[in-house]
Amino acid sequence: MGLAAGRIARELGRWIPPAALRRTGQPAALFFHGVERRTRDPQLQTNHHEVAHFRAILSALKQFDFDVLPLDAIDDVMAQPEKYSRSLFLMSDDGYRNTLGVAADILDEFRMPWTLFVSTAHIGSGLPNPVFLTWLFFLRAPRGAYRLPHFAEVVRLDGDESRMKWARLGSDHLRFLPAAKAEEALAMMRSAFAPGALEALVENFSSEHFLDWNEVRALAKRGVTIGAHADTHWPMHAAQDEEYLRQQAAGAKAVIEREVGPCRFFAYPFGNKPDVGAKAWQAVRDAGFSHAFTTLSGSLSAGGNPWLLPRYGLGPRDNHIASLVPLLFAGNARLRSWQASLA
Ligand SMILES: [Zn+2]
Repeated sequence: MGLAAGRIARELGRWIPPAALRRTGQPAALFFHGVERRTRDPQLQTNHHEVAHFRAILSALKQFDFDVLPLDAIDDVMAQPEKYSRSLFLMSDDGYRNTLGVAADILDEFRMPWTLFVSTAHIGSGLPNPVFLTWLFFLRAPRGAYRLPHFAEVVRLDGDESRMKWARLGSDHLRFLPAAKAEEALAMMRSAFAPGALEALVENFSSEHFLDWNEVRALAKRGVTIGAHADTHWPMHAAQDEEYLRQQAAGAKAVIEREVGPCRFFAYPFGNKPDVGAKAWQAVRDAGFSHAFTTLSGSLSAGGNPWLLPRYGLGPRDNHIASLVPLLFAGNARLRSWQASLA
């Protein structure tokens, strides 16, 4: 596997003064997850920016004349990208409660419009993100040996080292199983905890709590664009069947339209090459979404398939963001060849 284009841009961006790139660039989409006042578990809260770092990113975007636009401008931007060389779209994935409690106020203060992509099954249901559940199991389940369905090896959790090893291996293995099989393994993981113990753990990690629909509507009222991040927060790769993909795309759209209002934007959970199959973008197109975002790096002038657009994931401390954004086009060739492979 070669160096991801996002990483190349990140490395180069460290060495180029942002002022040198002030007039260059191409429109791009940037995303984050949650914003927390304080994160206390670096293993489990990897999805969240701390307030000071989040502010530093927005300040840099403002200082170097980036123009953050509402996502509805995307039709114009994609039609004439050369007119929008400093334009950006800001997005948050999943639908964490701290987007309302923390991020929304900061973004308002900077007068930056943004889009929230929600995974509908998790909104207001108390159902944790399966990714988080997986990590909780491997890192916090009672010490012991577990036979998980669809795992070839017995999972032995008996020390920090074995837990970390399994957290990495096990979550990757689970991610590429068909959803129904992954769910069987997840059910076993849940049952490893004493009654109430898992709920107490989840309760403790407030960063991982999702919004409810009243809160999503409150954000929409404040001008936040609400998009779909599938129904369950799980990949839409080639091992998933068509009915599952239809539910993830059309199902999520129907729920958002019932609860909030019209919804035409989609972002794939995980969203990297192995997480999005050809049938996935077709299901998203057929559901009536106009645009969908992956997590492959690139700029929006790349054109190509509007249901496989590039997006850059903001690192927890992207100190060189103003130099990095104008270099995102470096990912476009890789993006286009991937789009062609899924045509
Ligand atoms: Zn996500």
